Amino acid sequence: MRSYSLIAPAKINLYLEIIGDRPDGYHELAMVLQSIDLADRLQIAPNSIQGFRIHCDNPQVPTNETNLAYRAAKLMQDRFPSVFDRYGGADITLDKQIPIAAGLAGGSTDAAAVLVGLNLLWKLGLTQPELQDLASEIGSDVPFCIAGGTALATGRGSDLEPLPDVDSLHLVLAKYRDLAVSTPWAYQTYRQQFGSTYISEAKDLEGRRKRVHSGSMLSAIAQGDGEKIAQLLHNDLEKVVLPAYPQVLKLREAFEECDILGTMMSGSGPSVFAIAHSRQKAEQAREKVKAAIADPNLDLWVAKFINTGIQLASQVP
Ligand code: ATP
Repeated sequence: MRSYSLIAPAKINLYLEIIGDRPDGYHELAMVLQSIDLADRLQIAPNSIQGFRIHCDNPQVPTNETNLAYRAAKLMQDRFPSVFDRYGGADITLDKQIPIAAGLAGGSTDAAAVLVGLNLLWKLGLTQPELQDLASEIGSDVPFCIAGGTALATGRGSDLEPLPDVDSLHLVLAKYRDLAVSTPWAYQTYRQQFGSTYISEAKDLEGRRKRVHSGSMLSAIAQGDGEKIAQLLHNDLEKVVLPAYPQVLKLREAFEECDILGTMMSGSGPSVFAIAHSRQKAEQAREKVKAAIADPNLDLWVAKFINTGIQLASQVP
């Protein structure tokens, strides 16, 4: 049987608006998600133990049943028990390049890659929408990670609408290695501080969704106007994360001093990105921020926007 190597890209949020509470207890969101070429690599190889094993040499990544890649594999086993019995389990090896707990959907994209990989390994022939339905059972970001590109995500973040590709922009990303922000903490704190402004009536929710739809960020994307996109970056979670994490605020301010188009925290943080016109400008911003902050604990990456999600890198034999 074949084994597969897959590329699993990270995402950034170009826009994140918290609209209100949903009856299912999640937040009602409006987000614009963008894939970037900073990516994990996954190897999925059949084994003979009738089970799944996760291998990863990064000590920050759990290799037990809490790993999202493992949860994706178990979901496939539960959904297709007779196929699992026929083909057996798989060894899943993660080469992590995406920083952990950074608001870049690192675990979610690994889970998406496992769904795509097992679909190939087990010759299931599931379509992209079918894979995305399964993905939404694992986490809100997982359906986007399957298809990638640029998309509007509403509801709890998994109702997706593809948007025109924005693939000519470059960025520099920064994260303090030892700093992690818990996503549940960020949302709970936001609810405590801003819950009184939440919308919950169905008709008001619909009105707000429409406003995002016809809003300036989506029209900047439709026009492929990189400068405007960068000016319109927005993330409600900055309101709770920046005051609680002065280091993240400092990063944000250091990027503002650079020749960049716009800067923002991604997702629940603590990674901060800055959009630049060219790779050269992104590299200059990286060097300037590195020198300004001068902290050996700060990691920086230069990346670019891409219009793909999970990709097959190779298959053996
Ligand atoms: P999101 O942007 O979707 O909120 P994130 O990028 O902030 O996610 P992850 O990198 O997915 O966060 O990691 C969050 C936690 O999930 C980690 O601290 C780790 O314990 C756990 N985890 C589970 N599976 C994985 C995985 N495959 N890769 C990384 N972390 C994982």
